[in-house]
Amino acid sequence: MNEKSPLVYAVDDSSLGRKALEAVCGRAGYKVRSFSSPEEAFPAFNDALPDLILTDLVMPGMDGLEFLGWIRSRSALRDVPVIMVSSSAGTEGLERALELGAFDFIRKPYEPPEILARLKSALRYAEVVRELRHAATHDSLTGLANHAELMRELEEGAREACRGKDSPRPFSFLMLDIDHFKSVNDNRGHPAGDAVIRMIADLIRKSFGNLVSGRYGGEEFGVLLPGYDKPMAVKTAEAFIALVSRASPEGLEDLRVTLSAGVATVGDGVACDLQCRDTVDRLVQKADAELYRAKREGRNRVCS
Ligand SMILES: [Mg+2]
Repeated sequence: MNEKSPLVYAVDDSSLGRKALEAVCGRAGYKVRSFSSPEEAFPAFNDALPDLILTDLVMPGMDGLEFLGWIRSRSALRDVPVIMVSSSAGTEGLERALELGAFDFIRKPYEPPEILARLKSALRYAEVVRELRHAATHDSLTGLANHAELMRELEEGAREACRGKDSPRPFSFLMLDIDHFKSVNDNRGHPAGDAVIRMIADLIRKSFGNLVSGRYGGEEFGVLLPGYDKPMAVKTAEAFIALVSRASPEGLEDLRVTLSAGVATVGDGVACDLQCRDTVDRLVQKADAELYRAKREGRNRVCS
């Protein structure tokens, strides 16, 4: 569980129902924001994403099932558990709610200890899912996005850049590769090699913290540069490889490495296509080809 108290959104058209949910969550130390309808709750999702959503089933406008469908269609909310609350005695709403992806279902009137136990169980589940998703999308050595996640982000970035097909927005992809990395492992041992990889990852985080970056492969990294045309991307890459050439891993102050870099830019030999699948392939191929040109031309340089 996060150190901060979980944020719960509670939606119920009955003010008594809202008060009861607020009281229960408040007693458990959770932060609660309550709303009388899904429509009233929508703007709140732009401020902060909840850790859990409690929603009434029967409401006059959008009902609990429609609200659940809306929640499940939003990727930012895909792991947020939803607990449906209803006073209706039948099982039809319950079945539909579970089919549509509700985590749990509670019938009114409920006993506070019951709803608390279910809230706790839902939050525990969400925490496990978060950890699993992080493990599945991040590289364990560096904490950066792993290859699959980097490619997923690249596809999203390319799609965004190609939205205006005839005049793509600037978007560049930077590929970085540690020069002579094998000799670090051979001469200094694999722990030193790992220390170098972690150092590069830390410098990437420091330099490109607000951008998406990842470990592309063994000693290769990728950085997405949305809004960067080719000259901007090259300048940024040059500054980064200069920074790396002056750095050394902690405890290995005599160890220096350099990077070679390849830059690919949408619109510069990389055409947009409707599916974006080809755009991604072309970006990777182009960046890779430029990276190998940088190697051939003597390393510790950027080609584009
Ligand atoms: Mg109701």
